[in-house]
Formats: sequence, C-alpha cells, structure tokens
Amino acid sequence: MASSSPAPEAAVLAVFEACRRFAGSKAPPASLLHCGDIQKGFPAGGKERAYAHVGHWPDGTVCVDLPRFAKLSVEHQVGVILHELGHLARPDGGEKEADLWVFEALGIPIEYRGPKTLQWVPRAVAGRILLS
Ligand SMILES: [Zn+2]
Ligand SMILES: [Zn+2]
Repeated sequence: MASSSPAPEAAVLAVFEACRRFAGSKAPPASLLHCGDIQKGFPAGGKERAYAHVGHWPDGTVCVDLPRFAKLSVEHQVGVILHELGHLARPDGGEKEADLWVFEALGIPIEYRGPKTLQWVPRAVAGRILLS
C-alpha cells in the first residue's frame, strides 16, 4: 500500500507552507484548515470561488475545500493561496485589493485562467515559490 506520492492533504499543506515562507514577514500569520462550508457560500454575498475563503475563523485561518482544492493545478493552488494571503493582509479590501497586495508586496501579478476563471500564476512562478 506504500505510495511515493504524498496524500492530497500533505501536498496542499506543502504548497500553503511554501507560499507562507515565500511571503515571509510581509504576510500576517496564517494557517490552513479544511472547511466543509465553502460551497455553501460563506461568507454570504462573497464573490469567492468555491475553493477557499478567509474570515470564517479568526487569527489568519485560510479555509480550503481540501479534496477539491487538491485537484487544482499547482499554478491555481499557488494563485489562490497568494490571493487569500492578500485578503488577510488587506482585510478591509475587496478582490482587487487582495491581488494588489500580492503584486505590491511579493511582485507577482495574479492572473485569472481556466474554466472557472480562477487565480493563477505561471508554472515558473509556482516553481520558484515551491522551492523558496
Ligand atoms: Zn471556512
Ligand atoms: Zn478573494
């Protein structure tokens, strides 16, 4: 039963930790939590894609819908997590403000790609972050 590929949860956590490490002290403290409420539309009226959100729990918790999030490409995973860190860094801002923080603080422009027009960064950027 041994497998060389990590469990989806471990892989997602590794991406999250890499993003946090890359942002360093520029981002507020953040931790990752699986959340089953994401597709229920929390926060009400939010425009989040149904993969992740912040503001559900205090103290910098980023919620992700782990099984679904794990199926995203790493380019999307990094894009979404950086975007969520942007929400933590600029809690009073909206969607554009979160991406603006990613660009101003980390120098990375967030793009929107794929069938769900989800946050995305180029593979080279994702690779640089994962190796940071
Ligand atoms: Zn949540
Ligand atoms: Zn957002």
